[in-house]
Amino acid sequence: MNSKGKLFIISGPSGVGKSTIRERIINTHNNFWYSISMTTRTPREGEINEKDYYFVTKEEFIKNIKEDNFFEYAEVYKDVFYGTPKNKVIEKLENGINVLLEIDVKGALNIKNKYHEAILIFIYPPSIEELKKRLLQRQTDNKDVIEERISKAQYEISFKDRYDYIITNNNLEIAIKNIQSIIEKELKKH
Ligand code: 5GP
Repeated sequence: MNSKGKLFIISGPSGVGKSTIRERIINTHNNFWYSISMTTRTPREGEINEKDYYFVTKEEFIKNIKEDNFFEYAEVYKDVFYGTPKNKVIEKLENGINVLLEIDVKGALNIKNKYHEAILIFIYPPSIEELKKRLLQRQTDNKDVIEERISKAQYEISFKDRYDYIITNNNLEIAIKNIQSIIEKELKKH
């Protein structure tokens, strides 16, 4: 019998290091697939359509909601939507491929409600001050966006206890090692 793949979900505040962690997971496992999300946000400099996100208009996004094309979706920031396209995720899991999503807390908890087997990992920042510093250093967003992301961070952190695992990213290499151990442990379970 073909056993199903496992669904891993990473969440955490903006600037906590999720993208780097996600890339490392994908690059070190050959049976892992990362689901590219759809979003209505404008691309940042250097971002590529269909690689970083499927960048779409709000109209296209709404059309996809109506056609029931999302596994989950959320209004992550005011009037900015993000969603996980459904068909591919299901197809991969059915074919025994592990799937990785990097999505916000609302989306993650929505999935957990209907798909209990999902493994939720929350990446926790060393402190809000440190997070602010990292966001400012990143210089990809303007000040208003950064402020919005910091206030959203506090909201997201309030959901951390509903996750299966919480990893603090004080040190990137240690955080990655801890996440890799969680993945190994979960993949060994039947
Ligand atoms: P960013 O704009 O910095 O790329 O992402 C902003 C937030 O949206 C992050 O917390 C990220 O995890 C979340 N996000 C990205 N894709 C999705 C998605 O498909 N669904 C949901 N619910 N959140 C997402």
